Amino acid sequence: MTEPSIFTRILNGEIPGEFVAQTDHLFAIRDINPQAPVHVLVIPKTEQYRDVTELAAADPGLMAEMVAMAKQIAVELANGEYRLIFNNGASAAQSVFHVHAHVLAGIEENKLVG
Ligand code: 5GP
Repeated sequence: MTEPSIFTRILNGEIPGEFVAQTDHLFAIRDINPQAPVHVLVIPKTEQYRDVTELAAADPGLMAEMVAMAKQIAVELANGEYRLIFNNGASAAQSVFHVHAHVLAGIEENKLVG
């Protein structure tokens, strides 16, 4: 059996995490290494999907829930505008193979890169 992901361990309380939202299917935590004033990870409670391609094909409704939670976080923690980033594959900077969305917000316009 494979080890639980780092995010599942945070969800289960084995590792500390700063939770900012939670529903039946999703949770959101502050990224430990923030790349923007607001940098939150939106994560399905299930770790059965390793990336957004798998998730979107199998459960588009859950994907839509992730986008809605991202928007809610951007409204609550910034001005409602946000970047939504999914890294897909090790060569695309994915390090945790339990699908998650990076929500970046509160970025000054002249500091926007990428
Ligand atoms: P990826 O590179 O897979 O797209 O994103 C994984 C993210 O998880 C990284 O931005 C990294 O900073 C974050 N991360 C890794 N370990 C932990 C942890 O223990 N706690 C939190 N809150 N974030 C983590």
